[in-house]
Amino acid sequence: MNQIKAYSRTLSPLVIRGLTIKNRVVRTAHATAFADGPISDQLIAYHMERAQGGVGLTILEGSWVHESSRTWARNIHTWGDEVIPSYQRLMDAINPTGMRVIQQLWHGGGIYADWRAVPVAPSPLPGMLTGVPAREITHAQIRELVEAFAAAAVRCEKGGLHGCEVAGSHGYMVMQFLSPWSNQRTDEYGGSLENRARFVREVLLAIRASVSDSFIVGLRLGPEALEGGLTTDEIVEVVKLLKADGLTDYINMSMGGYHNPESIIPALHAPCGIELDWVRGVRERTGLITFVSGRFRSLDEVEQVIAAGEADMVGMTRATIADPHLVKKTIEQGVDAVRPCIGCNQLCVGNIFTGQLLQCTVNVQVGRESEFPETAIPKVTLSKKVLVVGGGPAGLEAARVAALAGHKVELHEATPDLGGAVKQVKSIPYLAGLADIIYWLQDQVYSLGVDVHTSSYLDADDIVDLNPDVVLLATGSLPREDGWQLVAPRLQLTNLDSPRVIAVPDLMEGRVAVAAGKTVVIVDDTGHAEAAGVAEYLLSKGVVVQFVCRFAEFAPQMNFSWRGRPALRRLNATGRFTLHTQSVLSAVAADGHLEISSIVGEKAKQVAADHLIFVGYNIPQDGLLTELKEAGFVGRVELIGDSASPRYLHAAIHDGYNVASNL
Ligand code: ADP
Ligand code: SF4
Repeated sequence: MNQIKAYSRTLSPLVIRGLTIKNRVVRTAHATAFADGPISDQLIAYHMERAQGGVGLTILEGSWVHESSRTWARNIHTWGDEVIPSYQRLMDAINPTGMRVIQQLWHGGGIYADWRAVPVAPSPLPGMLTGVPAREITHAQIRELVEAFAAAAVRCEKGGLHGCEVAGSHGYMVMQFLSPWSNQRTDEYGGSLENRARFVREVLLAIRASVSDSFIVGLRLGPEALEGGLTTDEIVEVVKLLKADGLTDYINMSMGGYHNPESIIPALHAPCGIELDWVRGVRERTGLITFVSGRFRSLDEVEQVIAAGEADMVGMTRATIADPHLVKKTIEQGVDAVRPCIGCNQLCVGNIFTGQLLQCTVNVQVGRESEFPETAIPKVTLSKKVLVVGGGPAGLEAARVAALAGHKVELHEATPDLGGAVKQVKSIPYLAGLADIIYWLQDQVYSLGVDVHTSSYLDADDIVDLNPDVVLLATGSLPREDGWQLVAPRLQLTNLDSPRVIAVPDLMEGRVAVAAGKTVVIVDDTGHAEAAGVAEYLLSKGVVVQFVCRFAEFAPQMNFSWRGRPALRRLNATGRFTLHTQSVLSAVAADGHLEISSIVGEKAKQVAADHLIFVGYNIPQDGLLTELKEAGFVGRVELIGDSASPRYLHAAIHDGYNVASNL
């Protein structure tokens, strides 16, 4: 009851065009790739889980309204009537839950297209993601597209959806018309703001004329966050223009475009509510129902936005990918029960931009909702004694899931704290948020009654003495410190036995410190967040960093999660960061001088350094597997996480879940 009072604004209904939405939590359009044509069973199960978790409104991913909007990805096709019965199946499932559903209607214009098609855009400029120049869209093609948007809206209504939303943000076709830099036309669709808004106006007019009066029609828009690009002030003017003719029922604000993709879905380096600065005043100035998004993770944050009058609905998309039951759990069990989205963008954004299906680092059930509903990890009939060795993410997730399944679980961690390798990020600026999942996992493990022992190193004899039915070895991995580099496997560095070489865990867990003003060479062989994080940590302490990597660019593994470029900007801003790409550390002299050689024929460089750090491939700590056999243990033993193969956080959590749900 208290919780309901605390979230009184969040939980108050909102009426849009006569339709009541039960609360202020909206899931905004986001690609899942779960459908490739009509709505699929996988997509229904995905949305159903979140409907049952208490979400008020869902906007389905930007569907293709016309064959020319096709990209290389999988998506919902609203250009054909086959979609109608699939919408009906979706709504038959969703309607009893009370969640409302709107379909986003999308055309990418010249941004990116299947290479087999010729992209069209307001002006013949290269697409931001392809570099392929579009053809200037003709008047006949504009008319065809306008009709396609309207026909798609009619299909949505026939399928029983509550409304549609035109995608006008993020640099897609509608924004390409609105933006002064991407629209260079001299006809009635270019030039003045009124002319640039003609396309969206025609689209909305055609939709409104084709659907019934009760059908919601919304618009997603946002400033480009680009010099010379579309501004919030211009958006307000466009919206006023459209509002005068009753053409949009709400405005869903979301900033950014592909010139700066990290602004579209800001990752964990961005604060909660990052987009509020751009949205401030829009609701008041337009008098329209306004939505806002941007790293919102809790109902407390939603409550503040609504209370401040900054928006009417708040987007919680990644937050409800990570925990579909966020709304319900917050009300019934409190905020700590909610599995946090850690803003990594790794398996949501990252998967989509590498042609895979939506997944989530912290929630293994995403995309598998019909197989493993969130609310019901199947209970076993025969409870086993499960021993988890290691309290990193793999061990914690395995212990959680095994306990939920009804096993008797005991976990031993050698160090005084749970968290494993994730503990190392706690002092890294802009990366510390990754540890939120560890806090949640440890809370869950304790509250599920797992028998947790910290500062408890187990050897094979200890394990045999404990006599478990199943042993899950989540013992992690350790860095190799021999200077081996993938791009020069036969190179053997000498002089690495000096104290100048620092192991990452020693640095990040505070056992070794580097004084301000010293120079550290970091050799990054993995291209992900670890080396970037170590660099950022050292720079925050006043250290000078020379960063050597074999890749053509900085931290390429962070590219598709849109975290690489913001990180590099922060490192460069210190003025103490030097990047050597396509390079290898080729020699270490006894006097501390290092040689950095180019792998593409540039002249070798000599640098003087005080310390050297290798961020390379780790060695799995899997020795217990053979030691247990030798000690005569006959029960089931499984390696999970880094001890099986050193990978990333998501692999550790997914291993833990997959093995423990199948014991
Ligand atoms: P993962 O990512 O696979 O969970 P981590 O390296 O993050 O791997 O965590 C492994 C954890 O296992 C570390 O906290 C480490 O201290 C612990 N550990 C390793 N060997 C043992 C052992 N024999 N007994 C108890 N804990 C161990
Ligand atoms: Fe959040 Fe990362 Fe999951 Fe995406 S993959 S929803 S950013 S935790």
